[in-house]
Amino acid sequence: MNQQKLYLQHVIKACESSQIILTDDMLSKLYRYYELLVEWNEKINLTAITQIDEVYLKHFADSIYGSKYFKQNAVVCDLGTGAGFPGLVLKIVRPDLNVVLVDALDKRIKFLKTVIDELQLTSIEALHFRAEDKLFKQNYLNTFDYVVARAVAKMNTLTEYCLPFVKVGGQMIAYKSDKINDELFESVNAIKIIGGNNYKIQTYNLDTETERWIVVVDKIRETNAKYPRDKNKPKLSPLV
Ligand code: SAH
Repeated sequence: MNQQKLYLQHVIKACESSQIILTDDMLSKLYRYYELLVEWNEKINLTAITQIDEVYLKHFADSIYGSKYFKQNAVVCDLGTGAGFPGLVLKIVRPDLNVVLVDALDKRIKFLKTVIDELQLTSIEALHFRAEDKLFKQNYLNTFDYVVARAVAKMNTLTEYCLPFVKVGGQMIAYKSDKINDELFESVNAIKIIGGNNYKIQTYNLDTETERWIVVVDKIRETNAKYPRDKNKPKLSPLV
């Protein structure tokens, strides 16, 4: 097996387990995304991971493992997307999704817009906002089918960033590492206050050493417009 096939294996496996038929078009889009990521990473800080097999495993395959949680044609917001994980990868392997990528750092948004243009992706946009921004709240409170996030904040803070923007009947989907029991316990009240129901957890194995968790929270009530609170409160004094 040559080097090329080795790194592809991660993505092939993730697609198989997610019932995604991986096309040549998807593979060439992922490869071009990888090239742009490495190229832009020399100028702006996008990721600590640049080896091709690691990018395909820890960014691409990991993002793909969450794809089965989204219904056909859903509107998905990826909050704190960074260099596009998981939202941009989800859009490549699930072209039916409508994706809104959001990040507080404008340089990352510029990178994402370049990737979107180069890959000629449609029904996807990249927006420069913080979750707490007034304008973002005015436009998007209680609206998305799903809000997804990976590696953005602890679960209580993350709940206040994401769950307000999920519509009633939709879900928040958090990608997490395996050390989250305490985090989850601490977030029970935040989930209730923001309008969520209890959470469900599923796990997957990224490789033999890495167990990953997906936390799914159902939204059952509309969120009051005071959330997420401003002045960095979701992070500095999380809801208890
Ligand atoms: N989800 C990506 C990036 C994780 S780094 C991945 O898994 O690789 C966290 C990102 O969240 C950063 O790009 C940061 O700018 C963004 N972020 C942190 N707090 C935020 C907030 N309150 N609103 C919007 N973006 C935020």
